[in-house]
Parts: sequence; structure tokens; C-alpha cells
Amino acid sequence: MSQVPIVCPQCGSKVINAATKVNSLDDLKGAVCRDCGREFTKDDVIAQAQKTAADIIRQALGKR
Ligand SMILES: [Zn+2]
Repeated sequence: MSQVPIVCPQCGSKVINAATKVNSLDDLKGAVCRDCGREFTKDDVIAQAQKTAADIIRQALGKR
């Protein structure tokens, strides 16, 4: 898992920029949105990772 953009569920701002290397969920846990100050929980990160993976699979299959 690397370079996954994490988007704030509250304001939609990108919290982790694309250059940030993410080696584990613990790297993202506790991250705070720069715009609204919402703190990320592990569940937020897992939910986004699953959504991102689903989007990648959908695109690979050619469905939108
Ligand atoms: Zn935010």
C-alpha cells in the first residue's frame, strides 16, 4: 500500500498528499485534516482503502 490519497470525509480536502509514503495503516491513524481539523480513525482509513481498491478493480474491468 503506497501513495493512497486520503480524502477528508467531512470537508473533502486531501489530507495525505500524493508524495507521502504510507507503509501501514498506523502511518495514517491520527492524521488530522489541514482544513477542518477532523482527526482520522483507523476505520476511516480502512474504509477509504477499500473504496480505492474497489475503484481500481472497477476501472481494470472497464466498468464505471
Ligand atoms: Zn477536513
